[in-house]
Amino acid sequence: MIHLRSHELQARAEKLLPGGVNSPVRSFRAVGGAPPWFAHGAGAWLEDVDGNRYVDFIASWGALLFGHAHPPMVEAVQQAVTRGASLGVSTPAELELAEAVHEAYPACEMLRLVNSGTEAVMAAVRVARGALGRPGMIKFSGGYHGHADLFLSDAGSGLATLGVASSQGVPSGAIADTVTVPYNDAEAVSAALDQQPGRFSCIVVEPVAGNMGCVPPDPGFLPALRTLADRHGVFLIFDEVMTGFRLARGGAAERYGVRPDLATLGKVIGGGLPVGAYGGRADLMQRVAPLGKVYQAGTLSGNPLAMAAGLSSLQAIAQQPDLYTRLEAAGAALEEGLNQAVRAAGVAARVQRVGSMMTIFFQADPVRSFADARRSDTAAFARFHAALLAAGVLWPPSQFEAAFFGAAHGPKEIEHALRAFPAAVAAAAVSS
Ligand code: PMP
Repeated sequence: MIHLRSHELQARAEKLLPGGVNSPVRSFRAVGGAPPWFAHGAGAWLEDVDGNRYVDFIASWGALLFGHAHPPMVEAVQQAVTRGASLGVSTPAELELAEAVHEAYPACEMLRLVNSGTEAVMAAVRVARGALGRPGMIKFSGGYHGHADLFLSDAGSGLATLGVASSQGVPSGAIADTVTVPYNDAEAVSAALDQQPGRFSCIVVEPVAGNMGCVPPDPGFLPALRTLADRHGVFLIFDEVMTGFRLARGGAAERYGVRPDLATLGKVIGGGLPVGAYGGRADLMQRVAPLGKVYQAGTLSGNPLAMAAGLSSLQAIAQQPDLYTRLEAAGAALEEGLNQAVRAAGVAARVQRVGSMMTIFFQADPVRSFADARRSDTAAFARFHAALLAAGVLWPPSQFEAAFFGAAHGPKEIEHALRAFPAAVAAAAVSS
């Protein structure tokens, strides 16, 4: 596989863009490789600027459920742009998207549309803090909720009350009220709430973690969070930016039967264009400006092109009642293929999957938390990744990013991946 043009572009880009990219993981630094640059996508396939083709398991980091350039989406966006790219005033498509979200995700009794997942989670926490007048927020290690200051904190050593900034430029004050506890550890949440009654406004959780690789909630974990939130009078926020409309039409809330007070959405609801949303109990959302005193705004919020793309994505979901069953079947085939390859290679690896999100962790034990995930052999993952890339399979370039697939991954694409897995897993097993 030749990557001449990609290398040229990357070299040029590195002079101008930090790391040559506009979002860090795209640099491939986590796998030590040189990132291909891509010319276009169609369905489940991406073609790079040197003409190499790949079955895409990044799927725009989970935003795509129907593949690249899904024809109804292309048409909807083309039509929308002829009516004006941004009117800056209310248009019917915003209401239609909000209604579609509300119908699929009933916990969003009211909602507000924004431009990204980061914005959505930032605002949802502001609503919770505003409603209770308490600053504290509990989140989980290995969770990702966007790059707003208040989330960029890791668990400090020992004391759950003292976090450390996980990025330079984050003032200690910005994370002073962020408490980070291990994922799947309801006891730790309970202890934090007990230790400091009256401090917390909310618990923010990825109901299926996807940002440390795919880590499902233990049975009982989400119900325990619900119970704890109720008992302590704090709000439960499901960050469903990744899981919303992916794991079920009603997201993880539907799949696990737990109703959050507030939820955040993104990715799939924009169908590949920048859209996020936060919503929840009407009494909480009525606190948002202009009704209430929790301020949040956006120049491009409800943008007509983004609304058209999002609506086409949600309409396609509504029109395909067997969508999630088909994704489950495709996922089971991929999971089984990876597991067979793992057994054949005799490598320590573990495949974890929920619906159309999956990760192969290069370690023997189940991964229930970020501490577990971090024990993975990232060098083995890098070899696996490089071998897949050479075989025309684009896997996310980090051990800690979930792989995604969608309705465009048909039998041909699944077969293509299954053929590539054995050699890639074998490559992971052999350290050079
Ligand atoms: N929350 C979760 C669970 C996410 O996965 C992400 C993005 N990966 C975000 C928030 C942030 O979304 P965005 O990148 O659109 O700002």
